Amino acid sequence: MKRYHQFRLAMALLVILALILPSSHPTLAQPTGPRLLCYEAPESNFPDDCQNLAAAGKLEDPPWSVVIVTGVELSRWDPNDFDMFVVTRGSGSSLGDEIKRIGDYVRRGGNLLLLDPAFGEQLDPSLAAPTRSTRINRASELTRAGLFTPIVGEPESAKNLPPAGFGIVPIATLGEAWIPQTRAGFGALSSTTLASALLEDGRIILAPTGLVSVDFAKTAAKWACCLQVAFGPNMSVTAIEVTQAIQDLNNSVELLAGKRTYVRVHVTSPEARSGVTATLSGRRGSTTLAPVLTPINPGGTVTVKPSPNRGLINDSFLFELPASWVNGTGNLELTARLDPGNTVVDPVLSNNRRTVNVNLLRGPVMRLRIYNVRYTVGSNTYQAANFHVNALESWLRRAYPIAQLNATRRTYNYTPSGLPNVDSLNSRMALAWLFDRLFGGMSSSTFFYGMVDDGGGFMRGKALGIPGKVSSGPTGTPSGSWGWDTDGSYGDWYGGHEIAHSLGRSHAEFCGAGGGVAFPYPSGRISPDLTGNTAIYGFDIETRAIYPPDWRDVMTYCNNQWVSDFTYEGIRARFATLNSFELSEAQLQQGTFALVTGNAKLAPGTGQFDQINVIEGSAELPTSAGDWSIVLLSGSGQELASYPFTPARVEDDESPEEPALFAEIIPWNPATARLELRQGTTTVDTRNVSGTAPTVTITEPTGGNLSGDSVTTRWIGEDLDGDELSYTVLYSFDGGDTWRPIATDLAATELTVNLANLPGGESSRFRVIATDGVLTGQNDSATFGLPDKAPELTIVTPDEGATYYPAQPVALEASAYDLEDGELTDQALVWSSTQDGELGNGSLLTIDNLSTNTHVISVTATDSQGQQTTLTRTLTIASAIDVPLATELELAPGVIGVATMLAGSAETTVVSTRALGDSDQTLDWTAQSSASWVTLRKGEGALADRITGSTPEDFEVVVDPTGLPIGSYNSTILVTSGQLSRTITVNMIIEGSRVYLPTVKSN
Ligand SMILES: [Zn+2]
Repeated sequence: MKRYHQFRLAMALLVILALILPSSHPTLAQPTGPRLLCYEAPESNFPDDCQNLAAAGKLEDPPWSVVIVTGVELSRWDPNDFDMFVVTRGSGSSLGDEIKRIGDYVRRGGNLLLLDPAFGEQLDPSLAAPTRSTRINRASELTRAGLFTPIVGEPESAKNLPPAGFGIVPIATLGEAWIPQTRAGFGALSSTTLASALLEDGRIILAPTGLVSVDFAKTAAKWACCLQVAFGPNMSVTAIEVTQAIQDLNNSVELLAGKRTYVRVHVTSPEARSGVTATLSGRRGSTTLAPVLTPINPGGTVTVKPSPNRGLINDSFLFELPASWVNGTGNLELTARLDPGNTVVDPVLSNNRRTVNVNLLRGPVMRLRIYNVRYTVGSNTYQAANFHVNALESWLRRAYPIAQLNATRRTYNYTPSGLPNVDSLNSRMALAWLFDRLFGGMSSSTFFYGMVDDGGGFMRGKALGIPGKVSSGPTGTPSGSWGWDTDGSYGDWYGGHEIAHSLGRSHAEFCGAGGGVAFPYPSGRISPDLTGNTAIYGFDIETRAIYPPDWRDVMTYCNNQWVSDFTYEGIRARFATLNSFELSEAQLQQGTFALVTGNAKLAPGTGQFDQINVIEGSAELPTSAGDWSIVLLSGSGQELASYPFTPARVEDDESPEEPALFAEIIPWNPATARLELRQGTTTVDTRNVSGTAPTVTITEPTGGNLSGDSVTTRWIGEDLDGDELSYTVLYSFDGGDTWRPIATDLAATELTVNLANLPGGESSRFRVIATDGVLTGQNDSATFGLPDKAPELTIVTPDEGATYYPAQPVALEASAYDLEDGELTDQALVWSSTQDGELGNGSLLTIDNLSTNTHVISVTATDSQGQQTTLTRTLTIASAIDVPLATELELAPGVIGVATMLAGSAETTVVSTRALGDSDQTLDWTAQSSASWVTLRKGEGALADRITGSTPEDFEVVVDPTGLPIGSYNSTILVTSGQLSRTITVNMIIEGSRVYLPTVKSN
């Protein structure tokens, strides 16, 4: 009996449905009511569905005609002759050959109602797109997708509605009393199976299998009243921005295969509509990519606004593309659909859909070796925390055009006392590069970066050569004029600047940076324009921060640094040549080589040899060119060989002498008695080869297993010629297969090393190489054991204490570096939840089905020796009812940077204010400037230090340099709303006019 009621309800709903169906298929004579073709699934447990439907239809006025078919009979009927095609429930059934015909019918505009979701699985997946028909298996999919807005029990309306999840629902026309609940209320239905059909005007039919009886009379009356369609606003998709770091609205910035990719779908509406969703689907060639994506904005929806601000993340839809969509080069087609369920009853649907095609280029792999420099000032030892190394690697992954950063971490012991001298450090890094090449089989396309913690003082960064291999720079916590950088480390973009020199990038001559090349955009900006389709915005693929178009290129010396397309595409072009070079890399040859470092001053053309080490190893033959050369001469002065090269100019050094460094590997000839350094034909330095090579004997350590904080290795160096010796110390943790330099240029005969910085191994050794200026001797220590180190682990996201709404994708991201294994692979990282158990593997894992609860999420990194490190973060998946409405004040831009000239004019920036997540809520705010050169104004109002307003009002910030001297200025604007407060950072740099003056040539 209960079941009978269920069918009554289903039938009654179809009555309503039928009443509003278009009758555009003229055929069967008979009544004027709608025509339904009802297919009874074979072996159905519910054999009466169609009969009940027909019985109910007779009572309608006008009555409907229901044709009931079963089994093969279906093939005799053309669904196009009907207004609706109904498939009843049936277990173990198949639509077999009819699937194609039904698919064609739906594509041509036929209405399909599947009472059993199992049939939906048989349909062509393209029909699952929310155009004509769709299938949903779990209530949570509804809430997540936001495609459909199920009507459920607000107490007020429940009395007129059937229980949750069932109905023919003209969503947009329900009126004030009906509150669509996209999140609340579906909790109880989580195990209910739903079948649904979507009609073209935005109505959906939901048919749960677990129906209960309801008083339908009231319901029908209510619904009947609501079926009159009132058109909503004509919303449209204005642009699809595909971004990996920077992009304009034409997608003219290059995109790379294998790099994390976000899509911002920009939309507008003549009147603001909140709670609107969108979808994004993709194709590559003839392959349809799965799944159809839903937005990652809070609640999966945004407020579609008349004048959206591109600087606000939630004024447009945000999608992150699955890695599988972007893992190969070539064309990628993306189609966005705004409000796919047409919940607003948009009168013009054609502009709700937009397709773009983008081309993915090969994504370069960057090899970087970061030497964390350990040094001593007085009694204090300094070394950058791993946090800073992580920050640099992260910044490069975000801002550089690379698909993969292959980073290895080393510690370099800088033994002279005091803050490292950057030129000396770079010279040592260059020698370390040669040793790594000779003994470590390192790729010649590996870049070196020496990172120096600023605890012992600020060491300005410099790079060797454009392009080059080696650079060094400082790191620390930003303060003062770098207050715009709020992530806790300035070593990230600072390193990005120096390493970009190594990648062939010259300065953009703004804010004091000199010696550069022509930069295409005003003020060193990242964008040619500030507005319109050609305005380039920065987008941070990790933090999802948006950098406005007046931010400055990383190759300037300005504040507010990101990367312009000029620099970004230039770096990619450099990588393209590097990668092709690598393919044809010369074979390494075993032999005796001279590792030669030295310095030069290019302007006067002077230079000196520094370190020369004649040593055995494997290297390739030199192919350098240039007007400098290293010449090998015999005892009789005969020229044995000459190797041309070009010294690497020291970048970020304004000295007019144009200092430079060189580091060359050349084949050694044992008959050599003298080396000459020549500039052109002029010999600028000479070094004689001594009669005998030095010897070295390591006395400590003597073996065993080392423990404690540090180890000191000691040795005795001897030279029959009585030459002064200098030493290089290398370390091997793999029994001597590979060696890594840990200190160079030592005068002392001992070195104390922090054990925490050394990879562990059962057969570890030190090697000491002594040079008398040219010839070398070497010795390996006794083998000793050192414990294996556990991985160093960092969680990037989520933040501690973060809250997510149900079904929102949660990105879990961590990086793990192991001293022995290097960067750990995805397999080595395992995520789990205290509530939901194991979640999966990988450095980046996206989960969208965490249960509603508070989770302690843990990630465990396991290295090849089974050593583990585990970190945890607590996050909450809010119960639907707890999902907070707008309580956050959102401002854009968050940073205002102005670079102007002395006595320049004031610049105005418009700041948008929004209530995050729900524009229907209004937040009253007060904005207060803390500097006299920053004033505020709303609309036509007067300039003031303090103004008030309400979201979503805009206000203007006027930055005025009048009367101020050359210099760098920093201030803040505090915007408060009740307990909420946000800060806008304002930076102004006033420069002398010389920086901007073009060079004038007289004829
Ligand atoms: Zn520079």
